[in-house]
Amino acid sequence: LVVRAAFVDEYKSGINWTEPKVIDPGPVGGPPSDAIVLFDGKDLSQWQGGEKWPIQDGYVTSKGGGITTKAGFGDCQLHVEWAAPDEVKGSGQGRGNSGVYLMGKYEVQILDSFDNETYFDGQCGAIYKQQPPTVNACRKPGEWQTYDILFTAPRFAEDGQVEKPGYVTVLHNGVAVHNHFELQGSTSYTEPPKYSKHADKLPLHIQFHGNATRFRNIWVREAVAPIVGKKP
Ligand code: MG
Repeated sequence: LVVRAAFVDEYKSGINWTEPKVIDPGPVGGPPSDAIVLFDGKDLSQWQGGEKWPIQDGYVTSKGGGITTKAGFGDCQLHVEWAAPDEVKGSGQGRGNSGVYLMGKYEVQILDSFDNETYFDGQCGAIYKQQPPTVNACRKPGEWQTYDILFTAPRFAEDGQVEKPGYVTVLHNGVAVHNHFELQGSTSYTEPPKYSKHADKLPLHIQFHGNATRFRNIWVREAVAPIVGKKP
């Protein structure tokens, strides 16, 4: 029998916290009320290059070149839904290839990796040529898939030195495939990763790699900094 004392000293931190803002999380998959909606199934007016991508039935299909947001983003939470073509054509890197480029520099690979061999640090969910995903959580070609990405942008000193590297956490179809992965620099096909000093905010980019990959429900949240408290 555990007898609890009627009066105990409760621990209190003494910190005066700013009240967390009330938001509406929205439907499953969002967008939450404080998100910037980048694609709602109707238009790509927030993107450059979007005029080449045909929109139908609430989704858009990649075609003729990549698309780049008009606005820049640094630290953020990003939600992207995508589907590889349902007709399987090609193999390896040639199947449903696209990619989400954070700050236009750091690629989270999109690929149809359902029963499709390729190099592991280039398969679906990889931080391209830096780190394979922890598991292959790919759905079948043609099925809708989700990426939920938490990104901390790198910080640079005046002289260009990396003060803090970038970090990325990726959930693929709700499965953690990267947990606070330390980016080694930009992701390139031809060069090893390297950092070069850039602005605090840069546009997001979605790659066109010759395949008709579909997208829908794209949104981003910038309010990802911790609430600040004050000791009285
Ligand atoms: Mg790619």
